[in-house]
Amino acid sequence: MRIDLHAHSNASDGTDTPAELVAAAVAAGLDVVALTDHDTISGYPAAIAAVQALPAGRRLTLVPGAELSCRVDGISMHLLAYLFDPEEPAFAQERELTRTDRFRRARLVVERCQELGAPITWEQVERIAQAGSVGRPHIASALVEAGVVATVSDAFSSDWLADRGRADVPKHETDPFEAVKLVRAAGGVPVFAHPGAVKRGRTVSDQVIGELAAAGLGGLEVDHIDHDEPTRARLRALAAELGLFTTGSSDYHGSRKTVRLGEFTTAPQDYQALLDQATGARPIVG
Ligand SMILES: [Zn+2]
Ligand SMILES: [Zn+2]
Repeated sequence: MRIDLHAHSNASDGTDTPAELVAAAVAAGLDVVALTDHDTISGYPAAIAAVQALPAGRRLTLVPGAELSCRVDGISMHLLAYLFDPEEPAFAQERELTRTDRFRRARLVVERCQELGAPITWEQVERIAQAGSVGRPHIASALVEAGVVATVSDAFSSDWLADRGRADVPKHETDPFEAVKLVRAAGGVPVFAHPGAVKRGRTVSDQVIGELAAAGLGGLEVDHIDHDEPTRARLRALAAELGLFTTGSSDYHGSRKTVRLGEFTTAPQDYQALLDQATGARPIVG
């Protein structure tokens, strides 16, 4: 069983449509793929339709999820949420709040870039984002297109879009303890995404991870491109100590990042532990 529990479509900042993501998962030989767009479930209908339309002999299980933007003690972090009830109102309202704020922030970041002399426009950024909700990666691509920086990662320097960079604007981020509670109340399972990704900035302490575990966190994403081997070993030990399952996943973004779908995977027993805890929704079996 090949299981990849973290992938983005163009419903957020991936480049594949949900249907293309499903096709890519089949092509990558995956048995299970999770759709985890940032703060939105708008890719679900197209992904579900694509899974259900797979030809005989092509099987794929789709795990519906989302990746939530959180902040604790001034540190930004991501929380993956799986198999929650998409209709549950309190959690739906929080996702809505995050999404509208994402738009407000993106407009302000584009304005800041313009004030700093970058010849980019909102229309250009929207075109790059296609149907997805506009975020910094799209603005980064616009900066590359305009010749302001050479690469997307250069755009994420302190000169431009990095957290607290010259063009950055703070966004709404949910308290992760509140997020864990909301996800559980919607029957879902919360998993801490790339908790040791130091290259993204400061990371959350083991003590806070322990407190999140006590508050209902289900698992830790351990095998991730942003974790080196010592980090993975440390997180695996921490998960064992706290009684959390561990996951591995690509955090696929289509052509926006170089990681391949299925490059990191989750063990079947850990996937089973996730399923056992979920009451809000079931995976879609194609
Ligand atoms: Zn993330
Ligand atoms: Zn992600």
